[in-house]
Amino acid sequence: MRPEALNSLFVETEALDGVGPKLRRPLEKLGLTRIRDLAYHLPDRFVERRVITNLDEGSIGENVVVALTVREHRAPPGRGPFRVVAEDVAGNICTLTYFGRASYSAKKQLPVGETRWVAGRLDQYGQMLQIVHPEHVSENASAPLGHLCEAVYPLSEGLTQGRLGSLVSQALQGLPDLPEWIEPGLAAKTGWPVWREALAAAHRSADAEARDRLAYDELLANALALMLVRESNRSQRGTPLQGDGALRAKLQLPFALTGAQARSIREIEGDLAQGAPMLRLLQGDVGSGKTVVALSAMLIAVEAGAQAALLAPTEILARQHYETLSRMLRGTGVEIALLTGRDKGKAREAILMGLLDGSIQIVVGTHAIFQDSVTYRNLALVVIDEQHRFGVGQRLMLARKGRRVPHTLAMTATPIPRTLTLAQYGEMEVSKLDELPPGRQAIDTRVVAVERLDDVAQALARHIASGQQAYWVCPMVTENENEDLAAAEARYAALKERFGDAVALVHGQLRPEVKDAAMERFARGEASLLVATTVIEVGVDVPNATLMVIEQAERFGLAQLHQLRGRVGRGSGKSTCLLLRGDKLSETARQRLALMRETQDGFRLAEEDLQLRGGGELLGTRQSGDTPFRIANLEQITRLLPMAHDDARLLIERDGGLSGERGEAARLLLYLFERDWGVQLLRSG
Ligand code: ADP
Ligand code: MG
Repeated sequence: MRPEALNSLFVETEALDGVGPKLRRPLEKLGLTRIRDLAYHLPDRFVERRVITNLDEGSIGENVVVALTVREHRAPPGRGPFRVVAEDVAGNICTLTYFGRASYSAKKQLPVGETRWVAGRLDQYGQMLQIVHPEHVSENASAPLGHLCEAVYPLSEGLTQGRLGSLVSQALQGLPDLPEWIEPGLAAKTGWPVWREALAAAHRSADAEARDRLAYDELLANALALMLVRESNRSQRGTPLQGDGALRAKLQLPFALTGAQARSIREIEGDLAQGAPMLRLLQGDVGSGKTVVALSAMLIAVEAGAQAALLAPTEILARQHYETLSRMLRGTGVEIALLTGRDKGKAREAILMGLLDGSIQIVVGTHAIFQDSVTYRNLALVVIDEQHRFGVGQRLMLARKGRRVPHTLAMTATPIPRTLTLAQYGEMEVSKLDELPPGRQAIDTRVVAVERLDDVAQALARHIASGQQAYWVCPMVTENENEDLAAAEARYAALKERFGDAVALVHGQLRPEVKDAAMERFARGEASLLVATTVIEVGVDVPNATLMVIEQAERFGLAQLHQLRGRVGRGSGKSTCLLLRGDKLSETARQRLALMRETQDGFRLAEEDLQLRGGGELLGTRQSGDTPFRIANLEQITRLLPMAHDDARLLIERDGGLSGERGEAARLLLYLFERDWGVQLLRSG
């Protein structure tokens, strides 16, 4: 139960004045459904304005407040903008320019002959001074003068700065006083304002200390929650698993393990033998050979007489894992089954029986393997592939499945910088596959301007004619999903025209059967070219596919490009990756593509990505998706997270039950940032 002190913060935004059904959607789009969310909706930046008595004092590009007297209205002759010609006290002329419907209110606000205070950005248009869409116009000085420093908020369609600003102030007015959870020594050293004041200050001006305090709160909440998971896990009883090596000896691998693989298996083996359940992350770049490590771990469980499950984020990946593992298990006598949400009827019943009576020892599947209807005889190990796709909540739910808490091995191919590993997986031990299997060839990566599409198509034709396969990736981002989808479909149609039935298409909105059928045609070599959106990002393994074309590569992040490129270069043949770029490249995008050409080391790319995005962000745009944080930006994460981590550890060491004065305050913090699953563990453990 959430502490009462926070209740007013979790009231729905609809309770505020002026929020009706019309504002609900735009607010929801920004994730602003409760008062708390509004209070934490921090400005992207601030506009600073200077009051000037005449226009000569202002410079071009500056945000100013100035008194102007209206001389004339110029209605557009055709479709041009509406212009208001105005004059300052010194007789300088300035045009106030309005496009579209904004002209209606402009006419009313700026009657000819009257003097008005105008706030806006001073620009030059030909020889004329102009202000386009002044942000404030008022009869007396106090209104614009009250806005000399004004927050600029992230918006969604249907919201204006003024509207959102007033909702935020309403939210801030009702903030409760909360007890301090920050360690007194740290508070004294940093001089950070208390929580309530920090929020107010962060909305008022670019106050670095206030922003740091709020970011730190978020990082501390996360670190604390992860620490609680870890502690609770340590105190749980798991099943110690000791294998005799008999099944592992029967595995007939066509290769010798790399040093990194052997080391990781040893680390896992050590964990499994313990009474406390394992919580380990296996981090390894694409192609580093995580599968065989996972299989070895699962075989230890089976050797010890228990069951193991492998959870994949998609049906496609579950199927592929199932096939690979079945092949590797041939001759070992181990029973393995595939269970996805699509299995129905008799087949499903048979699998459920096998899991219940223990005759199936390893199951591979999507989250369907953890539905209530699935009961295991003795599930002792859960392997989670592409861990980052599952939230921590889900992770915990999994842990509740067996009679005893199963061991967990999470795997990720997403190389994350060290600091972020701490943030995301702070509660886990880490094994790193930092060595690729021998004999891998570098992927020849080139950046190609999109104007050369014809050349690319010809290269593709030669590639296919030589009997090799290729991927063609189209971007797919949520903001313009429909447009992107249409572009991918159009590309598919164009390529199909040229290459006929050799082309297959997969994207997220196809029915699963259709998607799987296409994937399978490609995996079996019946299709030579797979046109895809980022569904293929993780795990898909077709060694004969040695060419990858990525369209609009500038729209992808480095980590994602790296993941995609990892789909090729899987066999012994030479592979190529062509990054097609548009003509409007930002400096960051240009550097990103250059880095892709330069290196194939995922960990290095991750660190560089952090650098690239960390710099140049003053107030810090939100890094949605990549980090679990909304307030803390990358720079703050790098600087403050290690501190938050140490602080959390100390607090838990001193007051593991969070029952002291500071502990109670820390509980509030956990609820405030909705890391309350940490608190729930406290209760149950
Ligand atoms: P990941 O899941 O980490 O991306 P996989 O487990 O799919 O990587 O392995 C990629 C490829 O490398 C597979 O074809 C696998 O058979 C092969 N492989 C794995 N380990 C080795 C090794 N030690 N030596 C040679 N090839 C290996
Ligand atoms: Mg894999």
